[in-house]
Amino acid sequence: SSPGGVSEGEPLRVVLRVRPSTDEEKLRGEEEAVSVDSAAGRLRLKCRDRIHHKGSVRERGEAQFQFSTIFGPSSSQRDIFETTTLPLVEKLFKGKDGLVFAYGATNAGKTYTTQGRGNMRPGLIHHACQKIFDTTSRTGTDSPSNAKLEHEVNISLMEIYNEKCYDLLGDNETKKIVTLRIKEDARGSLFVDGLKKQVVKSVEQVTHALSQGMKLRRVAETDSNERSSRSHAIFTFYLDQFAVHAEGVTELVKSSSLSIVDLAGAERAGRKQGCDREKIRETSHINKSLMNLARCLEVLKENQRRQDGKKHLVPYRQSRLTRLFQPSLETGSAVMIANISPLLRDSDETIHALSCAALACQV
Ligand code: ADP
Ligand code: MG
Repeated sequence: SSPGGVSEGEPLRVVLRVRPSTDEEKLRGEEEAVSVDSAAGRLRLKCRDRIHHKGSVRERGEAQFQFSTIFGPSSSQRDIFETTTLPLVEKLFKGKDGLVFAYGATNAGKTYTTQGRGNMRPGLIHHACQKIFDTTSRTGTDSPSNAKLEHEVNISLMEIYNEKCYDLLGDNETKKIVTLRIKEDARGSLFVDGLKKQVVKSVEQVTHALSQGMKLRRVAETDSNERSSRSHAIFTFYLDQFAVHAEGVTELVKSSSLSIVDLAGAERAGRKQGCDREKIRETSHINKSLMNLARCLEVLKENQRRQDGKKHLVPYRQSRLTRLFQPSLETGSAVMIANISPLLRDSDETIHALSCAALACQV
């Protein structure tokens, strides 16, 4: 497929989102380095280093990237939702699983995109939730059997931190976080053993559970600026659809899930890691999951190019994150949002994230 191509049936759709400078950054007089031409699918980046990066065309201190879908600084949360997640909500009701993940350096806008900011700027989770309940409230009938349809919506919230899975909805009262294992059931489907699924009946219930759960998200207490940047947060909707037959018999007809993921910061190794042992350990684990994700994308790309039918094994099993992403990547129901900071100060991280996004959209 062509770089940036987002046609149906591709394993991974890639969408870029460049955030605006914050008021604080404007006050500090931070210089911007990114300019976007959405219609042309072009992003220009002033950069300071002279290293050549894969996927970019460089000239006179400027790197240029071509992507088919780029959201500029003025794009709204709703725009992002409608392009990336709404099609997956529609598939959810057809019984298909989906995955959206926000990738990018710390401070690039991943949490803003997935969770939003306050009530005024709700993110993907909120918009998806609203759409799901809008749809379930219009209870229809299953046309072939003419049975009445009923729905049950559950959610879960999990964190991957240092290659361990924690349940963020687990035990709110005691603030105890339970470690979980990823297992395979008899049919070979993956599940996270013991992960709590909570029944939800309204958008408010979801918002409440999300904010409670996110408070438990592991933080590096020494530096509050790095809050939540070291772990992956995986929020999942589960939709069960039941047909209620005339005799009152209830039958589960479809069962599917949609995950919305706020990845750990994709900082390059060595940066900001400080010298204490715990932080080095954290950084290496974050890199392990994210680097393995990049590696999986690389192998998927190689495999697609091969004409001889001999495929390499995709190393999904080498990190928790990719193990969980495997089904979605294999069924072509994954969307990657590459979040980008507009600041010149962040241009090294930006070019790194763009290179990874460029690789991903060749898959
Ligand atoms: P990350 O989760 O990637 O570390 P954040 O989501 O916390 O980054 O975003 C960094 C800052 O930029 C926050 O202050 C956030 O509110 C702001 N921000 C991010 N994206 C946008 C956006 N699209 N519009 C306005 N402000 C944004
Ligand atoms: Mg964040």
